[in-house]
Amino acid sequence: MEELLERLLAECRVYTEQGRVADYIPELAKSDPDTLGVYVIASEGRHSWAGDCRQKFTLQSVVKPILLLQALLDNGMEAVQNRVGVEATGKPFDAINAGEQALDSGHINPMVNMGAIVMCTLIKGSSYEERFQRLLALTSQLAGEELCVDEAVYRSEKEHGSKNRALAYLLKSSGLLEGDVEEVLDCYFRACSIQVDCRSLAHIGAVLSNRGRLPLTNEPVFPIALTRYVNAILTTCGMYDGSGEFAIRVGVPAKSGVSGGIMAVVPTRMGIGIYSPALDHKGNSLAGIRLLERLSRELYLSIF
Ligand code: GLU
Repeated sequence: MEELLERLLAECRVYTEQGRVADYIPELAKSDPDTLGVYVIASEGRHSWAGDCRQKFTLQSVVKPILLLQALLDNGMEAVQNRVGVEATGKPFDAINAGEQALDSGHINPMVNMGAIVMCTLIKGSSYEERFQRLLALTSQLAGEELCVDEAVYRSEKEHGSKNRALAYLLKSSGLLEGDVEEVLDCYFRACSIQVDCRSLAHIGAVLSNRGRLPLTNEPVFPIALTRYVNAILTTCGMYDGSGEFAIRVGVPAKSGVSGGIMAVVPTRMGIGIYSPALDHKGNSLAGIRLLERLSRELYLSIF
């Protein structure tokens, strides 16, 4: 496996030159576009890696499946689905969805910003501090290590979060968001700023691939029905409005983030973590997708 990862990484490094690092959150613009790393954790617990896999970065949208999981654990599937739908929007992650029709919960899903912001309100806790700490604890458990917030990215997101504020106030005015908008957004910004590396992403993917159980020990973290819910939404909506193309080229549930991370789930087989911050025009890691595409072909990973 190591040899294969090294070879694919060497083949795909050239693609890092074709993408662009996200700069709408100024702190993210400081990332090194040449970085490329991959980490794989098989369901039975074997670890393999190549490249810059211990480089730190922030979860960004890769936190969305974890926000969804926490909301599902706290409220059950029916209550969550009543608040945020499950259909692909076919639009960018931060689309305003302005149109003739009034915004309703069926128009959004938990993998776009509006849906993820609503998820923050569904986490149980007497304060937003408590809600965030519960989310951080679940994220750390899934990642197999203690995680913390990258404070510089968090501040940068909060200072430059006008678009997310617009989305949150639109939700509020449509009756889809309860509570204080700034408090909810603060929880969302902190969630996006949790610091990880490829290993953490691979570990989260391994739990989702192992029916909600930790690799190696098989200790259950969440029920199998929730694994199905999350993996299904990752398949249809996880790679922004490039999810259809990704399903054809790679064919596994996955979530990307604008920091350049990709967390991929190969059901019953492995979790994969990738980092390469140079993005394509949809916001997905350009070299990361190429690497996953080759890995999928070599190991017959597609679920289709
Ligand atoms: N924090 C980012 C935002 O809300 C996350 C976007 C992403 O990774 O897709 O704009």
